[in-house]
Amino acid sequence: MSYQIAIDGPAGAGKSTIARKVAREKNFIYVDTGAMYRAMAYHLLEEGADPENDSEIAEKCEGADITISFENGEQVVLLNGKNVNHVLRTEAVGNMASAVVSRNPQVRQRLTVLQKELAEKNNVVMDGRDIGTCVLPEADVKVYLTASARIRAKRRFDELAAKGEAGDMDQIEADIIKRDEQDMNRKIAPLRQAEDAVLIDSSRMTIEEVVHTILNLCR
Ligand code: C5P
Repeated sequence: MSYQIAIDGPAGAGKSTIARKVAREKNFIYVDTGAMYRAMAYHLLEEGADPENDSEIAEKCEGADITISFENGEQVVLLNGKNVNHVLRTEAVGNMASAVVSRNPQVRQRLTVLQKELAEKNNVVMDGRDIGTCVLPEADVKVYLTASARIRAKRRFDELAAKGEAGDMDQIEADIIKRDEQDMNRKIAPLRQAEDAVLIDSSRMTIEEVVHTILNLCR
């Protein structure tokens, strides 16, 4: 049996940073499920699909083959055989993933099957929005990682500043709140804390403190 650590939470809570570190400590693979939704969103943007046209979206999604491989421990997302990792982290892709792709039942079904397979064959730390609730309901450890919207916005602002990009704090916070609303209120697999998940509010915690808390839950 594989060991499964599920981490869910809203945008900008630090899930990927934390999950990657926990995976390294445990020598598990880190599965970033958001990147799979983003790859589908990137495909739709490339194809110029109309976000309002459900049948066009469904058809274009069917034409996208998404697979995962691991290179030096890092997840690589292949869209129709091509590595798309480097184009997934833009705001446009994230917004399309949240507003359009994540609402599509066929896409969720396909990606969930892929995620379950990865977690059956490997010890995993998997992060996303529905891991503890839908993808890995029997996970050994479930965490719901959050932080206040203001603090998540500040972290994003600092991240942009470190790359030499200017951001507007209020705009970033408004975008984060909008994303939370979309993810928490969609019909299928909305973001919510699983009943048996441990809530970690990282607003006043360092990355290392959060990582330690999760590692302690594994004992
Ligand atoms: O985590 P990340 O920001 O990369 O995810 C992008 C979007 O993909 C989320 O806002 C959410 O709408 C969707 N998503 C999802 N289920 C997951 C992971 C991501 O619906 N397990």
